[in-house]
Amino acid sequence: MGENSEIETLNAICREAKAQGKLSGKNLTDLYELFGQRFTKALDALKENRVKKYTFKPSGRTVWIVVGRERDYLLMPEAEFCTCDDFYFRVLDRKVHLCYHLIAQKFARNLGWFETIEETDELYASLMEEWKKATP
Ligand SMILES: [Zn+2]
Repeated sequence: MGENSEIETLNAICREAKAQGKLSGKNLTDLYELFGQRFTKALDALKENRVKKYTFKPSGRTVWIVVGRERDYLLMPEAEFCTCDDFYFRVLDRKVHLCYHLIAQKFARNLGWFETIEETDELYASLMEEWKKATP
């Protein structure tokens, strides 16, 4: 499999799902074949409404979080970056391109399957500190 094929395939399926407003049976099959357990975990996160988009006012800054079993994971989707161990050890090792949090976030954004939480800018620094704390 090529260097960027996971991301490209995921983006293609996201575009299709966005146009359809849902994931088709074929999408689910393809995604499971491509990502296996990572897709199952991403789907669980989506179903359990664990993908959160924080919007800070008045700056309009946004932060994406996936609430995990033990802690919250901070994502930087533009950079395909996540603060989880899975990302740190395997993605940087180029064994795995995307952790399940990033997969979940892409579907959340494209299908609107996320919760928006509004906070004030005063809380931005302390929340970011909290989210970044567990980064290895
Ligand atoms: Zn992650």
